[in-house]
Amino acid sequence: MQCELCGGEIRGAPRTVHIEGAELRVCVPCSKYGTEVQKPRASTGSPPQPPRKMGGPPVPQPVQRRRRDLFDRMEGDLAEDYADRIRRARVAKGWTEKQLALEIMQKELLIKKVEKGDLVPEEELRKKLEEVLGISLIESAESEVKSSKGKGMTTTLGDIISIKK
Ligand SMILES: [Zn+2]
Repeated sequence: MQCELCGGEIRGAPRTVHIEGAELRVCVPCSKYGTEVQKPRASTGSPPQPPRKMGGPPVPQPVQRRRRDLFDRMEGDLAEDYADRIRRARVAKGWTEKQLALEIMQKELLIKKVEKGDLVPEEELRKKLEEVLGISLIESAESEVKSSKGKGMTTTLGDIISIKK
């Protein structure tokens, strides 16, 4: 008795499996490539296995974790004078702390803390502040330019140029 899949000698009872719609008698190792045909006598045994195709497309891998370390390095560090930059930009716009808070859907207290340097804005808050104030809170000019290259940043190259004027 030969396995109809690999051609090897079947020792013991052959397995009857469905592979790609064909019914084959195969050896035990090959039976994993197909769906085993349930014998009529087996009334309500184990539930039927889901069909498994041979050589099908690879299972999509889960989305890889964003390499934050790399991006964070490229984005540069928060400027030491971030509090001053925020306050100056806000005053230049003629906004009160409350108005700025409303612009970024935050509490006035949070703006006050940030402007006093009591609170270091997290990335999300920092980007909102940069966006509504039209400023950059990142230390190095070089990393600003790098981070503007197609990473879906809110700061565009045009923004940076206008800041630098
Ligand atoms: Zn085989």
